[in-house]
Amino acid sequence: MAEERTFHIGPIRPPSEAASLLLQVTRGCTWNRCRFCNLYRDTHFKAYSADEVKRDIDVIAAYAEEIREFCHDSRWDLDGLNLRLGALADGNARQCFYMVAQWLLNGGENVFLQDGNTTALSSGRLSDVLIYLKKTFPQIRRITSYGRAEELSRHDAEYYAELKAAGLDRIHSGFETGSDRVLEMIHKGTTAGHEITAGKNIRAGGIELSVYFMPGIGGRELSRDNAEGTARVLNEVDPDFLRIRTAAVKPGTELYEDFRKGWSSLCSDDEKIREIRRVIELAKGVSTRLVSDHMVNLLQDVEGSLGSAADRKRMLGRIDQYLELEEVDRRVFQLLRRTLRAYDLDDLQQIPQEQMEQIRQAVSRDSDKRWNEKINEYISRYI
Ligand code: SF4
Repeated sequence: MAEERTFHIGPIRPPSEAASLLLQVTRGCTWNRCRFCNLYRDTHFKAYSADEVKRDIDVIAAYAEEIREFCHDSRWDLDGLNLRLGALADGNARQCFYMVAQWLLNGGENVFLQDGNTTALSSGRLSDVLIYLKKTFPQIRRITSYGRAEELSRHDAEYYAELKAAGLDRIHSGFETGSDRVLEMIHKGTTAGHEITAGKNIRAGGIELSVYFMPGIGGRELSRDNAEGTARVLNEVDPDFLRIRTAAVKPGTELYEDFRKGWSSLCSDDEKIREIRRVIELAKGVSTRLVSDHMVNLLQDVEGSLGSAADRKRMLGRIDQYLELEEVDRRVFQLLRRTLRAYDLDDLQQIPQEQMEQIRQAVSRDSDKRWNEKINEYISRYI
């Protein structure tokens, strides 16, 4: 029995890995200097040895064995599971038990290797862990991890082919932008060239690539660059997924101080939406799926395949439907969306006219600058 035993769990995972088992292979980030991110500022990077990770896998396996006893004829005894969870005295052990239970209740098929940059490890060391993980849990169907573009670009296609053979299926990478000017401004420590080399090698090695784009991260001054540079990288790499993460300049980060000092001006929601529109327009001949899987995105239903004419038309149509609203109604939608009172544009029709008028009056009071600051404050709460 695994009572009171624990394994390492890191702070973040992509939203698409919400139902995945989290297995910490490294801790922190090898770079740790992006001006918009302070997630690991107080964490020293550590690569766990293969033996340490295998020990964690053994603890997970012991919990899994115990948890499976609460399943009879494909039905889970949730009351029994809750009682068992509550009986664990140690908070960390409860967190571990809960995660393994959630994972198994969701099918127990996907695993995400944490933290910020797992591919800092050699292919041999990472493969050792992957093989042990798949041997322990033969039902696993997908294993994914984060990687930083500059470090990813140091590996050739053979490195990725070896990891693919050992069980790694997808790499998520925060490209954020394909503009060298924006990359320099946010101190990402990478270039568009790194992104292209990394992307091509990952795909040649047979691993799926999921990259992130941050509309608005370059501020108003670099808004055009941000979109056009990103489209250029996209056209070179043709990643499997382009995930939209609308920029939120979070208080406490260096980038927030840059904006506060006036080194750059915050983009409005409209400018960020126009960046997405420009990327879709310029993405040519790629089969990438554009995904909007985060609350920070204003138009979360703008999703589809960039390789499909029908999807492109639908996505651009939805963006234009928003941009063609009166300015005051665009602000109303921004506010309702950021306060969880609307999911998409159609929800505007559900607001009674009288209430709509009151909101219109309320949102009209702020200057553009103050309004953009307010929206930034709202979305910063979601990251
Ligand atoms: S590479 Fe990722 S985790 Fe590391 S500092 Fe930059 S954004 Fe944060």
